Amino acid sequence: MRILVLNCGSSSIKYQFINTEEKVTLAKGVVDRIGMSGAVLSHTRYDGDTIKIAGEILDHQMGIEYVLGVMLSKNHGVIDDKDDIDAVGHRVVHGGETFSGSVLITNEVISVLQDNIELAPLHNPPNIKGIQAVTRLLPGKPQVGVFDTSFHLKMPPKAFLYGIPYELYKKHKIRRYGFHGTSHRFVSQRAAEILGKKYDELKIVTAHLGNGCSMAAVDKGHSIDTTMGFTPLEGLLMGTRSGDLDPSLILYIMGKEGLSLNEAGTLLNKHSGLIGISGESSDMREILAAIKEDHKRSKYAFEIFCYRIKKYVGAYAAAMGGLDAFVFTGGIGENSSEVREEVCRNLEFLGIQIDDSKNKNSEEVISVQGSKVAILKIPTNEELVIALDTSEIVISLKESVNLTASL
Ligand code: ADP
Repeated sequence: MRILVLNCGSSSIKYQFINTEEKVTLAKGVVDRIGMSGAVLSHTRYDGDTIKIAGEILDHQMGIEYVLGVMLSKNHGVIDDKDDIDAVGHRVVHGGETFSGSVLITNEVISVLQDNIELAPLHNPPNIKGIQAVTRLLPGKPQVGVFDTSFHLKMPPKAFLYGIPYELYKKHKIRRYGFHGTSHRFVSQRAAEILGKKYDELKIVTAHLGNGCSMAAVDKGHSIDTTMGFTPLEGLLMGTRSGDLDPSLILYIMGKEGLSLNEAGTLLNKHSGLIGISGESSDMREILAAIKEDHKRSKYAFEIFCYRIKKYVGAYAAAMGGLDAFVFTGGIGENSSEVREEVCRNLEFLGIQIDDSKNKNSEEVISVQGSKVAILKIPTNEELVIALDTSEIVISLKESVNLTASL
């Protein structure tokens, strides 16, 4: 099948057009600055042909019209007709407590997404706008929602409940949800494939380290715990987010600095993490460069970043009662041998033994031969997961329609 994958953010639309049988991307691109001056579509075809189209792109519907236009265009396109798109898969950030897997989008699904807006006020509204725009532009085309939260939804209560009055969970749905689920699912499954082992027999820790960072404990194919929580602020140190901290210090800082709720939110989400500690950058490449210049605060930022990951490896090995594989992914996880080396240092007692030369060269398995725990670096591919889930749901839908018709 040929699936258009859409990731609609507040002012951008990332897209990929994927052939699911061949698992290849036929075209991909991004519409940036939607609703602002200087909006632009950047489109790249499978053969490297690239084009940028500037325009007045007022909303998501116009953005998707631009995407369809370039996909159909004679010189840069990949389809002759809109019917060459079999279905559309959407990345949706928050499925709340309703969706433990990907689903065909219906009016009922949209109304659940609307109910969840409070849980993801920045992300769910543009996701819904994208779905509604496709309904208007490609009427009748099947659409599937793939949620960042769903892989984690079967965590046990001991992992998802916070130590606050239980009524608050019931009343306001305050619990750990976790994010990056599509990535944790993809790389943990790939790890099992690469190792030639059964997914449902492995205990895997996955570390998705990008601008946002999270880890998951994947026990026999299920996420049983993850570092992000009610929001993507909890857990690891990130580019601009604090991760774990003593909740009281927020109240203390608000009092001392005279911050409003919004200002406190901005402090923890935008001015903390690598940038807050280093004062240099939220970008790991720049932190590593500054360390070479002996920049002390960048060194602290790097050490705290790696130390947190190390602590969660221990915690999750304990939570699962063992560990078979440890996977790095995301921009930092895939590319920084320095981070991988520092995280794995002194974890030999857990059976984690990194191979220095494999770590620095481009291999998937980077542990020493015979290491009890396999260490892997695996490029994530959330778009492929979305495309595959979409085609699977659409195929089973067609089969059930055919079955009903033949009765
Ligand atoms: P996002 O979470 O926005 O998808 P990415 O997964 O692309 O982000 O990760 C971005 C992070 O990856 C940045 O901190 C960047 O510095 C880091 N990164 C990318 N390439 C390298 C590299 N070669 N070495 C170290 N860090 C890298």
